Amino acid sequence: MIIKILTLFPEMFYGFLESSIIKRAQENGLLEVEYINIRDYASNKHKKVDDYPYGGGAGMVMTPQPIFDAYEYAIKDFDKGVKARTIYLTPKGTTFNQKIAVDFSAEKQLVFICGHYEGIDQRVIDTIVTDEISIGDFVLTGGELPTAIMIDAITRLLPGVLGSTESYEDESFYSGLLEYPHYTRPEDYNGLKVPKVLLSGNHKEIDRWRRKSSLEITLQRRPDLIDESKLTKLDKKLINEINNERQLK
Ligand code: SAM
Repeated sequence: MIIKILTLFPEMFYGFLESSIIKRAQENGLLEVEYINIRDYASNKHKKVDDYPYGGGAGMVMTPQPIFDAYEYAIKDFDKGVKARTIYLTPKGTTFNQKIAVDFSAEKQLVFICGHYEGIDQRVIDTIVTDEISIGDFVLTGGELPTAIMIDAITRLLPGVLGSTESYEDESFYSGLLEYPHYTRPEDYNGLKVPKVLLSGNHKEIDRWRRKSSLEITLQRRPDLIDESKLTKLDKKLINEINNERQLK
């Protein structure tokens, strides 16, 4: 996957893109990232990239010219005839989630536009942006952290990025449920014990325990995620068990 990031602060990405799994994905040729500094494309003498909003009001707005020109540079080598998915990070956008990450992970090329100040001129959004995405109901100073979050979530879904010991299929949201709890050595840490079933070697029982734990934690914390129509016969049985156990408590 090729990702082009239009930003005023490329340095905000350095540590993140040069560490851990995201670094490995680039070293293995599965991900290629280019930062494009919007300011380099400002055609005015002082390299100014913002201006006062028409109609008055507080704050500054990022001007269209440098963004349009940076975008033209970004897509110059992209497949012709296919409009690149171009994501503008904004609190006004659709809230990012795992389903959207899966959708983007199928693309060959993506462009991210990081806003600052009050945001970018609406004409940029109307002309080149295909997706407006928010990472939550709060306001940050710029689009760099949201872009980093999206790149992280998307990259780990690319085929070959996660090693054989790492997998996303069981993880929270992927299966429509929150994930079950994890334990590792030692079996007994100062009297805090690992659930016996996980030490039993009985994989059928372990799968059952994990499924039940997933259902239980999802019912407790995110009942909105549970899609009744996707519950199996076993899930319904496990939910009955959970409800009965709750009543006994
Ligand atoms: N005036 C904007 C509003 O009220 O919607 C907020 C602008 S914010 C201070 C500056 C930039 O940070 C935005 O253009 C956007 O790129 C980014 N940003 C801030 N919060 C965000 C969020 N929750 N999700 C995605 N991007 C965000």
